[in-house]
Order: sequence, then C-alpha cells, then structure tokens
Amino acid sequence: MTRTPLVAGNWKMNGRLDMVGALGASLSGLRNSRAEVAVCPPFPYLAPLVRALGDSGVQIGAQNVSRHQDGAFTGEVSAEMLADLGCRYVIVGHSERRALYGEDDELVGEKFLRAQQGGLIPILCVGETLREREAGETEQVVVRQVSSVLDVAGIGAFDQAVVAYEPVWAIGTGETATPEQAQEVHARLRAALAAEDASVASRIRLLYGGSVKSDNAALLFAQPDIDGGLIGGASLSADEFSAICLAA
Ligand code: PEP
Repeated sequence: MTRTPLVAGNWKMNGRLDMVGALGASLSGLRNSRAEVAVCPPFPYLAPLVRALGDSGVQIGAQNVSRHQDGAFTGEVSAEMLADLGCRYVIVGHSERRALYGEDDELVGEKFLRAQQGGLIPILCVGETLREREAGETEQVVVRQVSSVLDVAGIGAFDQAVVAYEPVWAIGTGETATPEQAQEVHARLRAALAAEDASVASRIRLLYGGSVKSDNAALLFAQPDIDGGLIGGASLSADEFSAICLAA
C-alpha cells in the first residue's frame, strides 16, 4: 500500500500576522513535493493563512476544536466554523491539551467524532510520558489512547483520520525517538488497527512527532510505518519546515 505522506506544522501559540505572509510565499514552492503539506496556526491566523496560501495546495488545520456544535459555549470554536474557513485538518488529543487542559481520552474521542461530523479530518495524537516509557508501558498507553477513540468512533472512522505518535518526552525537548523506536510503536499502532480492519490499517497515515528537524526527518520518514510528521518548533521557520516537507 502506498500512502501519500503528510507533513503538518503545529505553530502552537506562536507566530504573528507577518509570519503568515512570509510562510505563504515560501510554501508555495512545495507544490511539487511528494508529501501533502498542512499548516496549523493559532485560530486568528487561519483565515489570513487560507488567503496567503491561495492555490498552493498546502492544507490548513486547526489546533483544537469544541466537542459541541453550536450554542452557549463562550470561547469555543466548532468544527463547522473551521470547515467554513477552509480547514481540512484539526489536531485532537495533543499532549499539551491532555496535560495542561485536562483533556482525557473520553473528551478526545468526542472531539474526534465532532471534527468528522463537522467535515474535518482529525489528527489524533497519542504518546507516552518518560515515566511510562521507563516503566515499559509505551505500547499499552498508545494502544489505550487509540482504543478509547475506536470505542466511540469505530474502525470505519479511521478511514478519514490521521494518527500522530508523539512521545511526550520528545516534544519540544530536542530529544527525538530513534527511527527504530518510532517504527516499533508505529508498527504496533498499525497492528492494533489491523486487528479491527486490515484495509483501514493499511491506508491510514501514521505520523511521527517529537523534535523532528531537517537533519533527522529523512531517516524517520524512511521507516515503513512512518507516513510523515507532525512538526512543532521547526514549523516556525519556513526554510526548516520546507526542508522537512521535502524529506518526506
Ligand atoms: C508537537 O508539539 O506536536 C511537536 C511535535 O513539537 P516539536 O516538534 O517542537 O517537538
């Protein structure tokens, strides 16, 4: 099965309006990259980025979505609103939201479904902490995180979804999982999905995230079960991000 790689940049709460135009200009050079490219800026920059990227083919994603569709939920943003703006993807279950905003597996599952119902493709983040890795619990944790979504959404929902394996100890730390460590977890994740439906498992894109840079991207992306990356810090530099996209 050949899967088109996906490289998605997660700006987190970084950037200013002037970065939008600069990025738009340099990413238009990625038109011929083998990978699909997506950028997930903070909410206020979604619409300007859609305009700046024009017909470059670069996709837009959001970093969060409400579990609700409409109503009295001050400060929330719905999947339909994001789709209206031109978003294709939304990140759900990022470890920062799990750790800092108390998002548990149940809420992540709800957001995943809501995203799909609103016309978006969720990028579901899973990953173990350092303590969990040292306790030998990595596989158990990531399979539990995927299963908690599987239980509410069912395997069919993974046909319109992306999973990102992001070991928490590698996010923003400069520590990267080795290509072998990452591949081992990706293979386990694909096997867990294959146990439900082999063809969905063979089609789904599994991204690696955690201190991916232009100098380690190619080796990570060369692993058989790694289909691109979710890129944090390095996505803030247009040159660095472009180089990572071209490595996929
Ligand atoms: C992330 O936050 O999704 C991420 C992968 O960050 P970084 O690349 O900075 O480790």
